[in-house]
Amino acid sequence: MAPHTPVLFTAVRTADGRLVDLLTADGRISAVGPAPSDGPPAGCVTVDAGGALALPSPVDAHIHPDKTTWGGPWLSREPAHSLRDLIEGDVRARSRVPGSVAERSGALMDTAVAHGTRAMRAHVDVAPVYGLSAVHGVRAAADARADLLDVQVVAFPQLGLVSRPGTAELLTRSLAEGADVLGGLDPVGVDGDRDGQLDFLFGTAVRAGVPLDIHLHDGNPDGVRQLTEIARRTVDAGLEGRVTVSHAFCVADLTGDELAATARLLAESGIALTTCALGADPVLPTAALTGYGVLVAAGSDGVRDAWSPFGDGNMINRAHLLAYRTDARTDDELVACYDVVAQGGAALLGLEPSRLAVGDPADFVLVGAASVPEAVVDRPVPRFVVRGGRVIARDGRLTV
Ligand SMILES: [Zn+2]
Repeated sequence: MAPHTPVLFTAVRTADGRLVDLLTADGRISAVGPAPSDGPPAGCVTVDAGGALALPSPVDAHIHPDKTTWGGPWLSREPAHSLRDLIEGDVRARSRVPGSVAERSGALMDTAVAHGTRAMRAHVDVAPVYGLSAVHGVRAAADARADLLDVQVVAFPQLGLVSRPGTAELLTRSLAEGADVLGGLDPVGVDGDRDGQLDFLFGTAVRAGVPLDIHLHDGNPDGVRQLTEIARRTVDAGLEGRVTVSHAFCVADLTGDELAATARLLAESGIALTTCALGADPVLPTAALTGYGVLVAAGSDGVRDAWSPFGDGNMINRAHLLAYRTDARTDDELVACYDVVAQGGAALLGLEPSRLAVGDPADFVLVGAASVPEAVVDRPVPRFVVRGGRVIARDGRLTV
């Protein structure tokens, strides 16, 4: 099927339970409604959705594909008692993992796409020990799949920035060699130099015209102090809407007036947050934050890497985990978790929203569920993954 062939998807279930036909043309949804009485329009291909529910395609707003072992042999993980243990264990493990970055990250991207992922923001290690090899590898994997997936590459100083001489120069170079976003990491907890790291990040972001995405694991009170300083610098630099703080465990600790004050500060400064709902890690109170106008998106984080044996790059599963970890119970709460994954992610990556309305990009999945809340709980593998109106995967496997 050529990319722009009109396709009529018949018997598609909508979020409000109706069965409709959905016509796509030129990459967009061109009609949604009852089956035309005079049959499908001339020249279009027909796909019977068989009553499957249409969901906007999910977005993975935070993933580390360069670290994954996906597609390779099992990796046994070393015990770790601190962030520093995990970082050092990761470096040691990397030398034992077979397969190039492009092969491993490409295998993970294929699985993600086959389970519906429309786009991902990939945090990729930049450090003197690796140079820019991981950025080049992930970029190559992404370029080879440009018709299946949008990928933003974040140059991520996993081993430290100002505390690891040579890293700043590599980060700057990476922006001309495949990275789209500049990353940071715990200015206090890892670098021990808040202003040193933030001076570099904000100065470079303004000069190079790139967004920032800063990992912040530090708890309170250090975490909120850093977040407050990031917000101040964001507004000073005119970078509202261009700065993300990932994990932001410190925000998960907050309640009541403290949560309200921090959420207002983030919303006013145009700072987005990502959360991954992992294991015992703190998870952001997504409903409260979005209620204050904070943009929140979700991601896989590490997938089957030296950090974690878990993860699968499947963002419908991630919506389920987010719902489970945030104690979602009502239909509205379950739907809100899917919205974080689909709409939050699309907004964070600057993608045009796909809400299954006429004129929207025809990026959606068709799943065996009667409603969005049921899909979040059941985690069905998509029967069809549709990108730009073209079926690119069926039943968890790529078809192109
Ligand atoms: Zn991360």
